[in-house]
Amino acid sequence: MTFVPSALLALFALTFCGIWGACRVAVPDHKCDFLLIYGAAFLVFSMALFSQVASLPPGVASNAMVSGSLYVGACLLLARGVLERSGSTLPAAFYPTAFFAILLPTAYFLYVDSNVIVRIYLLNFGMGAIFLYLAARANFLRRGTLTDRILFWLIVALALHFFLRTLLTVGSVTAIEHLPRAELIKDFGTTSFWNWSKISVALLGAAVGLGLLTVSGADIIMALRSERDTDPLTGTLNRRGLDSEFPRLLAKSSMSPVSVIVCDLDYFKSINDTYGHAVGDSVLVDFAELLMSSVRPTDLVARIGGEEFVIVLAGMTIQNAYSFAERIRKAVQDRRFDHVDAGQIITCSFGITRYRKNENIWGAVKRADGILYAAKEAGRNRTYAEGMQRPFAA
Ligand code: GH3
Ligand code: MG
Ligand code: MG
Repeated sequence: MTFVPSALLALFALTFCGIWGACRVAVPDHKCDFLLIYGAAFLVFSMALFSQVASLPPGVASNAMVSGSLYVGACLLLARGVLERSGSTLPAAFYPTAFFAILLPTAYFLYVDSNVIVRIYLLNFGMGAIFLYLAARANFLRRGTLTDRILFWLIVALALHFFLRTLLTVGSVTAIEHLPRAELIKDFGTTSFWNWSKISVALLGAAVGLGLLTVSGADIIMALRSERDTDPLTGTLNRRGLDSEFPRLLAKSSMSPVSVIVCDLDYFKSINDTYGHAVGDSVLVDFAELLMSSVRPTDLVARIGGEEFVIVLAGMTIQNAYSFAERIRKAVQDRRFDHVDAGQIITCSFGITRYRKNENIWGAVKRADGILYAAKEAGRNRTYAEGMQRPFAA
């Protein structure tokens, strides 16, 4: 039974490595090296526990130094993994500084002025401080996705646990602190501090491992979903993405009007024919960037065909949508696209409709497409909107 907790932690290490491998195959674009760092943290954590319960190395002082170094190393690895997962970093100097700030005084209170209580505070408060600092640095997670928030509070709970458990149980060591060294060593194994340490390390390891596995699994599912819903060329939504995001937009703006715009580049075939498909692609990418940078975070942009895009504007009347489309139309007309002759003007046309309650997004898109067709017929490079005299004067 004694070795079960460390074996369990080693199993978590293996699991993280396995998920890392699966993630690299399934979602190559998703950065998942942090899973290897989690794996390393759990392996080192398991070695720390093993060194304590197996009394390896056997001497009290050398065992305290080895297991202490491994515990602190595991905490630092975990902190590094959490930051890597969240796209953030700590100054490189932090890791050796934190390590020696805990281990050097520990060595002093082992070899020079032996004091078990100070050592307990140093190690446990040190590890708690590492996670508190991590929580402060990763504070932005509190405003992130659900998995970001779960991860943040997991770190805070982990940090507080080190302070709380130590304060609640250190008294049992204080009670035997005055004993001669040989007896102290013998009785230490019976203190509630030591017993709670062993239990909480095992429970906490499992809880943190499960928490991180859940968060990592959810992250991977979200990465897969985003890959499924995104157009790989332009980074806008694809048809499927529009289908799944539209109900969310409606839920957020149930009271206000929603405008649907279909836009299409004019004579795009001739761009391809003149400059080649690669230049055509780069024009599409630039055009999509212009659209995405023009909308608000609550709006949607999707590429639904070769050079045809849908823009869904939440809370916008037809008149406002018209002004919006006209701004983009003029910006495209005035813009110079890479690898396209300076004299060549690229233009686009827009068809706008108002979303009608209870209809399918594709019903509105079809209507906007019909209006776009009329704009094309009228000569292109223009914006037409439903129910307005064409062209509508803004
Ligand atoms: P219109 O003004 O009537 O819209 O004329 P158009 O030439 O833009 O329209 P048409 O539908 O005749 O041609 C669309 C062209 O878009 C045909 C195709 O070569 C090109 N196209 C479609 N998808 C892509 C793509 O992913 N990359 C590139 N470079 N071209 C594409
Ligand atoms: Mg076109
Ligand atoms: Mg087209």
